[in-house]
Amino acid sequence: MGRALRLRCPRCGVGKMFSGPLTTCERCSHCRLKYERAPGYFLGSIYINYGLTAMATTVSYVVLHVILGWTNRQLTFPLTGFCMVFPALAFRHTRALWLALDCHWDESLMEIEEE
Ligand SMILES: [Zn+2]
Repeated sequence: MGRALRLRCPRCGVGKMFSGPLTTCERCSHCRLKYERAPGYFLGSIYINYGLTAMATTVSYVVLHVILGWTNRQLTFPLTGFCMVFPALAFRHTRALWLALDCHWDESLMEIEEE
């Protein structure tokens, strides 16, 4: 989890996962772990991103509307903006988290490949 939050390789913790704001490296520069294992591999990260966005929006709505008394009209623009900006900001971290979870569940990914 710590390596995912720092956007580092889940196997070695050294190599960077991204070469740009939206560009995922093909492999780890240190241990050569292949990040995108198959076409569409990171599709699962979209579910994580969606879940986090929905949860944060729901909690924000409940706190601002029910507890602080903001009207729905007052909340429409800020929460809509949040729903558009947050997924873009969380894009890299949810991809890193997806790969870290895959490495956690599939221990064969944690073994160094001989090439
Ligand atoms: Zn690595």
